[in-house]
Order: sequence, then structure tokens, then C-alpha cells
Amino acid sequence: MKTAEGKLYVSNGQLFDGTGSAAIADGCLVVEDGVIQFAGSASEAPQADADVTKLDAHGGTIMPGLVEAHFHPTYFNVAALEDLDIKYPVEYVTILASCNAKLALECGYTAARSGGSLFNIDFWLKRGIENDLIPGPRLASSGREICGVGGLMDWNPDFRKIGMEGLVLLINGPDEARSAVRKLVKDGVEWVKTYPTGDAAAPDVNDHHTLCMTFDEMHAVVATAHNHEMKVTGHCRATEGIKNALLAGYDALEHGTFMDSETLDLLLERDVPVVPALYFEKASIDAGPDFGMSQAVIDGHQETLDGGAESARMILKAGGRLGMGGDYGFAWNPHGDYAHELSFFVDFVGFSVEETLMCATKTGAEIMGRGDDLGTLETGKLADFLIVDGDVIADVSILQDRSKLSVFQGGVLKVDNLK
Ligand SMILES: [Zn+2]
Repeated sequence: MKTAEGKLYVSNGQLFDGTGSAAIADGCLVVEDGVIQFAGSASEAPQADADVTKLDAHGGTIMPGLVEAHFHPTYFNVAALEDLDIKYPVEYVTILASCNAKLALECGYTAARSGGSLFNIDFWLKRGIENDLIPGPRLASSGREICGVGGLMDWNPDFRKIGMEGLVLLINGPDEARSAVRKLVKDGVEWVKTYPTGDAAAPDVNDHHTLCMTFDEMHAVVATAHNHEMKVTGHCRATEGIKNALLAGYDALEHGTFMDSETLDLLLERDVPVVPALYFEKASIDAGPDFGMSQAVIDGHQETLDGGAESARMILKAGGRLGMGGDYGFAWNPHGDYAHELSFFVDFVGFSVEETLMCATKTGAEIMGRGDDLGTLETGKLADFLIVDGDVIADVSILQDRSKLSVFQGGVLKVDNLK
């Protein structure tokens, strides 16, 4: 991705740098050739030369670009799970994914980590974004997801004879787990997404307390993936599934819904990050009746929401790391709503705005494996930042309003809502 040339001097706004420091009332950000040279108080900033481009934040907020830590660009706001794999051909889903990536950038998300992809679209989407063919967040890619036969993602009945070609590699036993990972090695992805447990969405045979992979399968996935320098994450709701994932050596957990003290200790031991994706549960509960969800599904989402919120509070309090990602891409939880996750963590889960924003910037970049060059406004990092029209620390819901965001990647103005 091309970076800007020359010097940029952003001032007249509060600066939230994402490092854990308090926001600075009169902040200043200096960028040279796309890299941050200074982020701090305007009174300590270097003198602006005559040749710099000056930008006025008009009393708003200067902050790091957001990181969507559980992004599914290939989920095209489906109303039924099976639509993911069979409604459209891969060619059309690729176009939809490209539109979702553009939308995410417009929403202030300058980076994202894929939570699983139809075919290998996310890898090529990443390539297109990196080569400036299309606008979008810098991506960490995942490919087809891995799940045990009969598990959560194996929803097409055999009599239809349509398999699960695009979305999931279905496995039976450690040998097939290894084989699935080896297919992904050739695809070039960075993350291997798995399904250790079920979900409230499938109350009959794969609910949120059901295991969908064995420990041996999960361990085989990790050993193979790590051998090829790939990281492993998994959809983990049931406590036993979380424990299996942590003992098998997973690099991250998605959801981490029903943590207990034993799994919390295991999590902290290796500082494994968790992406709760909780607003999805709230959206499912609120809109479920309109989309024909059964009471059992809605009740399951409520249990998941309560358990997930409790676990998130427990992890943050114990010093663990959380990323903000929302599983957007369902009809009741559509692309574009990404920042609802942040308001939800402040209003419902009880995080402070600063804690929530750090999860959504610094930790998100760390989960991507880009903690060294993204996620905070610090000297030497890429100038991926937002100028927000308003006081985000006082009201995080401002981030839900795209018209108030100007978005920069590598110092290049990509979304212009500057006054
Ligand atoms: Zn997901």
C-alpha cells in the first residue's frame, strides 16, 4: 500500500494515542512520508516547516485507525447460514467482499483480521488492497474454516449432495485435520480458523455447549499450522472447548464465551487474546423474531451474551487482552455497523471508552501480528489514523457515524469528511 509523501501536521484536536495514556487535550500529530514522527502535546511538537500540509481537527479527536478483529468480508449480510456457501458463485461473492472492505474503511477501520473466508477470497482481497487496486483495511487473512464432520458448520444434509465446498473443510480425525491445514498452507493465509464448539444458532445438535472437534484434531491443526508459521484460532463457546483450544496451543480465541477460573489461568499463562464479538448476540436477540429465529435460538443467544459479557469483564480485569470484532455480515448484524460493538462494550459490558478503544486499536493490531507498525499513534508507526468530528472519549457512539470520520492510511487521506 502506497504511503504519503511529504510532511503532514495535524493539530487543534484532542489526541488519543491508544497506548494507555490519557487523551491529550491539545494534541498534535506529525507525519513524514506516511510514518508518524511525533504524537503528543502541541506545545512539545516540532516546529512546522513552511512546506508541510497542515490539517485542522477543529476541536475533534485524532486517534488511531480502528481494527476489526473478527472480520468476514465474504459474509454478505445473509439471513440464513446456508446462503453463505450456496446462494452466489464465488465470482459474485468476491465482488461483494470487495464492497464490504471499502465500507469498513469508510467506517474508520484501517485494518482488520479475517475471521474466516469463503474460498480463498480474503487472501486475494488482501493482495488487492495492498496493491491499491481497491480501498479497504489492511488485512490479516484467513481461508476456509475447519470443522468436524457433523459439527456446527456441517449444515447441508447429505441427501442434497452439495457438500461444503467453499466455506469449510470438514474433517474426521487428526489425519484429516492435518490435511485440511496443508491445503490452507498452499492458499497463503496467516490464520487458520476452526470450530471447536457449536453455537446458539444451532440449538438441536450443535448448541453452544457442544464440542465440534476433538482435542486430538485441534492439536493436529496447531502442530501443522505452527510448523508452517500460521496461527490458529477457533470459535470457542463451551468451557471444555476453550480449555481444549488453550491446551492445544491456540494463538487466539474467538468468543471465549464460558470462561472459568481454570481456563482464565491457561489464557493468561500464554497471554492469548480473545475476540468476544458480543454485539452479534444482542443483535440476534433484538432482531431474531423478525428473522424467524426460534425461541430456543434467542434464549441461547441471551445465555451466550450474558456468559460472554461476564468472561470479557473477567479477562480485562485479570490483565488479559481483548480485540474488538463483531462477526458482521448477517442480515441482522450487517456490514457497516462495526462500531456498534464499541458502544455496546461501553454501555452494556461496562468497559471505559479508553479501555474499549485500546482493544479496538492496539490489541487489534497485536492480534493481526502488526503490533510493531500499527494500532497506536507512536513515533515510527504507520500513520493510520482518524480525525473524528467530536469528542470520542465523551461519546464513543460518534464512531458509528461515518459522516464524522476522515480516514488516513499511511498518511494518505482515504475517506475525506474534513471540514
Ligand atoms: Zn465469525
